[in-house]
Parts: sequence; C-alpha cells; structure tokens
Amino acid sequence: IIGAGPAGLACGYVLAKAGVQVTILERGQYPGAKNMFGGIFFSDQMVKLIPGFYDQAPVERFVAKKQYSMLVGNSQIAMTFEPEEFKSPPYNHSFIVRRSVFDRWFAGKVRQQGATIICGVTVNDFVWDGERIIGVRTDSGDENVLFADVVICAEGANSLLSEKAALRNRMSMRTRCISVKEVIALPKDVIDERFHLTGREGAAHEYFGGVADGMLGNGFIYTNLDSVSVGVGVVIS
Ligand SMILES: Cc1cc2nc3c(=O)[nH]c(=O)nc-3n(C[C@H](O)[C@H](O)[C@H](O)COP(=O)(O)OP(=O)(O)OC[C@H]3O[C@@H](n4cnc5c(N)ncnc54)[C@H](O)[C@@H]3O)c2cc1C
Repeated sequence: IIGAGPAGLACGYVLAKAGVQVTILERGQYPGAKNMFGGIFFSDQMVKLIPGFYDQAPVERFVAKKQYSMLVGNSQIAMTFEPEEFKSPPYNHSFIVRRSVFDRWFAGKVRQQGATIICGVTVNDFVWDGERIIGVRTDSGDENVLFADVVICAEGANSLLSEKAALRNRMSMRTRCISVKEVIALPKDVIDERFHLTGREGAAHEYFGGVADGMLGNGFIYTNLDSVSVGVGVVIS
C-alpha cells in the first residue's frame, strides 16, 4: 500500500485483520507527518473499523456546536446548531483532531493487526509486467524494488504517481483548492469561555461570503483542546 493516510491505513487495517501480509510505504517520517487538513474528522467509517474508537484515540474535542456564518463587511448572519445528540456517542461522527497525532495512533492500531509500516520511503514509480503492476520502485538505496501480488495506491489527492502512470487524468484548477491554516495556542479555559464550551465540547465555525474576498471559498475556526485552528481556502482558478 502506498501512503499511510486514512485511506492507506484503513485499507491496511482491514487486510491485515483478514490475514493478508501487508506492507505500507509512507514518505513522511511518521504517519501524519505530511498530512494537513482543516480539523474535523468525520468518523462514520472509522466506527465500523474500531467501534468506540473515540474512547481511546487522541481526539482533541467532539463537535458539540456548528456555526455557519455569512460575512458582509464587519457584519455576519450566523446559524448555530447545538443539538443534544451531538454531545453523546457517537457524537454526530464529528471530532476535532490533529492529523500528526491521530494518524500516528491509527498507524499503531494497524501495526497491531500485523501490518508493516515503513516510513521515510517515497515510491517513485510502479514496476510493470506488461499491463500489470507487480511492484513499486522506491527512493531508498540499492534494493529499491518491492514486489507484491497487489499494489494499492493511497497516495492522496496529490496523485502524482497515478498521473505519471496515466491511471488518472490531471486535475483541473477548477477542482483544486488552496488552503492556509494557522494553529494558535490558547489556554483551554479561555477557549471554553469564548466559545461557550465545557469539558471536551468543541466548536466548528464555517465562514462564507466576505471571508474569501470575492473568490469561491470559505474560512473556518475549529477549537482544539488548547489551541484554535484558523484557516481559509479558495478554488485555485
Ligand atoms: C487544506 C485541507 C483541509 C481539509 N480539511 C478537512 C477536514 O476538515 N475534514 C476532512 O474530513 N477532510 C479534510 N480534508 C480532506 C482530507 O485531508 C482528505 O480527504 C484525506 O487526507 C484523504 O486521505 P488519504 O489517505 O486519501 O490521503 P492523504 O491523507 O493525503 O494520505 C496520503 C499519504 O500518502 C503519502 N504518499 C503520497 N505519495 C507517496 C509516495 N509516492 N510514496 C510514499 N508515500 C506517499 C503521503 O505522505 C500521505 O501520508 C482537507 C484537505 C485539505 C488539503
């Protein structure tokens, strides 16, 4: 399996649990090292793999409150949802996580099922036998070819390998976004007071309109345990 993101790890978990010999190759120094995302982990698939995972996984908070705001100048029109069922298992399948921590934890679970995860290795190419892929070529030293009965490519949206092998078309700029996010440290009690939260409750605020400065996009603020993630993303074209 190429890539130890959620797709590669979930795939490795299922296969290793079924007794298949699995090796996952990840170019980051550890799973999660290269993975940036906004912050909300939607867990409706994860609970099928590891029921009640949130009792053991390093989640920052569950999303107790969602707010959608339209910004116009310095004003906003906001809608807030805070139903009681968001606050008890399965927490509306919405958790605020940090990928550098969460993916690492998930990788540990995959290893427990018997899979091997090798980090710091980049797959440069597929190895072909006619029209069949029979292995991968990596950037690591002399013995850089690994053969396998099946190669699963879970390289993520930046699908350079698949594009290079003409397995998928190049994505258009209309379907690509660029996002920036900053994580700002803030004491837990300050976050709780400002966002009206208690315990492990978290808030997810999404912003539309003026926040994208005339472009197609949106902004967000998500509360981690003792920091907030503030970001904005727009379609490149
Ligand atoms: C800015 C941004 C914000 C987002 N916000 C959210 C959000 O809030 N909630 C949400 O649910 N989703 C969000 N997403 C989407 C989410 O990040 C993806 O859906 C998810 O990461 C896809 O998982 P994946 O395993 O397919 O790919 P990835 O997470 O990208 O994992 C692919 C892995 O493969 C590795 N890899 C790639 N190529 C190679 C190679 N050649 N050799 C070895 N290893 C390789 C990479 O290092 C990486 O670890 C966001 C995405 C972005 C970009």
